[in-house]
Amino acid sequence: MRTPFLAANWKMNKTVGETRDFLAQFIPQVRDVSGVDIVIAPPFTSLATAAAEIKGTNIMLAAQNVFHEEKGAFTGEISPRMLVDIGCRYSIIGHSERRQYFHETDEMVNKKIMIAKQTGLGVILCIGESLEEREAEKTFDVLSRQLEIGLNGIEYQNIVIAYEPIWAIGTGKTAAPEQAQEAHAFIRERLRIYYGNNAEKFAIIYGGSVTPENVDSLMACRDVDGALVGGASLKAESFSRIVKFRKVQ
Ligand code: PEP
Repeated sequence: MRTPFLAANWKMNKTVGETRDFLAQFIPQVRDVSGVDIVIAPPFTSLATAAAEIKGTNIMLAAQNVFHEEKGAFTGEISPRMLVDIGCRYSIIGHSERRQYFHETDEMVNKKIMIAKQTGLGVILCIGESLEEREAEKTFDVLSRQLEIGLNGIEYQNIVIAYEPIWAIGTGKTAAPEQAQEAHAFIRERLRIYYGNNAEKFAIIYGGSVTPENVDSLMACRDVDGALVGGASLKAESFSRIVKFRKVQ
């Protein structure tokens, strides 16, 4: 049995004060939720505050990005050691916005995963195709390449895969549950090639316009083990409803 994994990606949103306000509402709303991994990924500037506020709760902390070196002359970057030190359990790696705007390649993603894992930082690896790639029927090729290069030489523990079709991110266009299930089943098949039976242990989560309205039907899919939520994670009410998804058949 895989534990459902529900993660909030705040992107470049929320000041320290707004982080505090969110958590003051959110923590009591999810206090009684058990059997679910709840993760928030605030911007770097809010990590210390969030770490202090969630201490002793059932909420875990993630960063939105990490650099692929331990330390040194890399102005503006943050290392996995610094993230673990501040209380992060995970880092998102390879988000499509980083691939698109900051030219992150699969090889860079692989290096980041490698060093994150060496440091004891869990990884939320984002993969997914663009609309153009989907329309050209290249979805599975893209997913295969991102997994093959991204996970090259990486052991299976402490990795969550987030399938995030780029055409669904921030657009209000969610993948239909059948589309999500098809992609997630494909991803698990690929993981079986690299990891054998350990492929069953991976949480494969869906991201792309997840809301309180569509989370239940997505979570009903066999291979959808959770969600990475952007826009709908910015309000405590809405993200807490997502965390408290109901399993529909
Ligand atoms: C994301 O950025 O990871 C994401 C899924 O965003 P949204 O939920 O806003 O589509």
